Amino acid sequence: MPLNAKTHKRGKRMAVTVLSGVLPVLLGVVILYMQAERALKQSTELTAEEAIRQFELMLDRNAQAARELLPLAGQNCKDVKLALREQVTRGPFVRATNLVWDDSIYCSSLFGDYHEKLSAGDYSKGRLLLMKGNLVTPDTAILVYRLGEGKQGALSTLDGYHLSNVLRMIGRKTILLLQVGPNWLSADGKVHDVALPVPPVAESKLTSTRYGFTVAAGFPEGETWRYMNSEYPPLFSLLIFFGVVSGAIGHVLQKRSSSPSHEMQRALEAGEFVPYFQPVVHGDTKTWSGAEVLMRWNHPKEGLVRPDLFIPFAEHSGLIVPMTRSLMRHTAALLAPAAASFDGPFHIGINITASHCKDLDLVEDCREFLSAFAPGAIHLVLELTERELIEPTAITHQLFEQLRTLGVMIAIDDFGTGHSSLGYLRQFNVDFLKIDQSFVAMIGVDALSRHILDSIIELSAKLDLGIVAEGVETEEQSDYLAAHGVNFLQGYLFGRPMPGAEFINALRHH
Ligand code: C2E
Ligand code: CA
Ligand code: CA
Repeated sequence: MPLNAKTHKRGKRMAVTVLSGVLPVLLGVVILYMQAERALKQSTELTAEEAIRQFELMLDRNAQAARELLPLAGQNCKDVKLALREQVTRGPFVRATNLVWDDSIYCSSLFGDYHEKLSAGDYSKGRLLLMKGNLVTPDTAILVYRLGEGKQGALSTLDGYHLSNVLRMIGRKTILLLQVGPNWLSADGKVHDVALPVPPVAESKLTSTRYGFTVAAGFPEGETWRYMNSEYPPLFSLLIFFGVVSGAIGHVLQKRSSSPSHEMQRALEAGEFVPYFQPVVHGDTKTWSGAEVLMRWNHPKEGLVRPDLFIPFAEHSGLIVPMTRSLMRHTAALLAPAAASFDGPFHIGINITASHCKDLDLVEDCREFLSAFAPGAIHLVLELTERELIEPTAITHQLFEQLRTLGVMIAIDDFGTGHSSLGYLRQFNVDFLKIDQSFVAMIGVDALSRHILDSIIELSAKLDLGIVAEGVETEEQSDYLAAHGVNFLQGYLFGRPMPGAEFINALRHH
């Protein structure tokens, strides 16, 4: 209960509120991040597939040219030169063709007679060789397709320009690389012979089943965030909205969980409500006739809390019933061992409220309380404040009848401040009237109040009710009340409300 809301408590609540707002947003961002990664991965897979398709199409033309030329291998270069050139002019993507005999290139579409050693081992799977360039264009990448059968061989060369074009066009935002054997080509048309780099985001690698080359696709660092930034702004707004709602719900729930009734439920379970005892003395002899049990909240942080600060909340939430039950058990456990020092029936006053009169549970509570003491050792007096008098219903009649049968007595507390009729006093078989301390305080000060006081005393005598004067602080008040035949007195003059141990100790000295 935030009697004095402490800053650290508020700080903690603030932190929980912020967390309950931020956590869903963070979780949402993580999910969106994973979603973006998946979308990017799908995109690179598609890009790699498309690149493979394009490269295969180009290589198909070169393979066809090589197939058509292969039977000519071995023939005199002069006779077949034209056929080689025809393939170059006819075949798109075919830049040059060569004939091979016995691992030697002997005829070229460009030079005619030509001589160069060919090592079939350089070709990936015997088929493809990616080169940085050739004699004619040393800086333009080429991809050579080789077909061989026995001593016969035919080569068809694909211009790297077409390849890098595909890498650039399809993978506009993607990093796209073509790998053939140990070499690879980047979109800028350069051939590299170092290890193939791995694109940092959403890497996909696909190998052509027909030609054995590999395409690697991926995105540069930070692409996931860039993608989220461009694709998900509406989802981000939604996330922020949810974050705010969730934070607000967290805040409200916390407020509810730290509501007075929730905090009191906790305190009840922790046994923080303890009885204090204020002695009530006989008007004539001033010896102790009993005590009123006054509840205190032994709060772990706030210290001892006065009842008027929490009893209204307890009544409002209905918690006052279990709280009173706990108070009565506590009281019985404290006083029962000291019962031997009671001089005649000791009056124990317990304050009850209208909430107690809604059912018959109070009867059981009183029975349990009385059973802790030897018969006749105490008088249990239930104090019901006049300010909130109860409706006479079938249940209340039953309740008060059963209480009477048990021997429980009834006192009307704060008498004079409400407006109970004589009929009311009779209906509930009241035993005591407790004169409110405001009248006692006026003794010797205000004539009108003194008249009311005198009337109450007179009335109680006529109705044969015991009378208790509350808030007696001075000798003058005590003398006046005693002289007017008030049976019982209660107030700081005779003792303040005190904790159980202190009260038992004081009781033994009386
Ligand atoms: P109440 O039943 O009228 O209790 C008497 C109040 O007057 C007590 O205040 C007591 O400490 C105070 N008092 C006693 N003698 C003097 C005096 O000489 N001078 C002055 N100025 N005050 C004196 P406390 O303990 O703060 O209790 C306040 C009220 O809280 C009680 O008034 C009662 O209505 C309620 N209360 C206390 N304990 C319980 C409880 O267990 N259950 C219920 N339902 N209400 C309780
Ligand atoms: Ca009282
Ligand atoms: Ca009172």
